[in-house]
Amino acid sequence: MKWIDNLVELTETGKVGKCPCCGSYDTSYSANKISGDFGHIVLWCNNCKNGYNASRMKINDSFKTNTPIPNNISL
Ligand SMILES: [Zn+2]
Repeated sequence: MKWIDNLVELTETGKVGKCPCCGSYDTSYSANKISGDFGHIVLWCNNCKNGYNASRMKINDSFKTNTPIPNNISL
């Protein structure tokens, strides 16, 4: 599994799911609208501190927005 699959999972289920790096389910995300309904989504794992930044994503209204991103995540 790759982070891009987590994006699909998030879109379909509202949950990030399993970390593609370490397999932990201790994952989170932050969605930020920049222009209209589009913006970027940052996914990360609280266990191994890896993350993924996806730009130009459609931000669903159900997404949590502007969640603080831990500053020790490597994107
Ligand atoms: Zn991980």
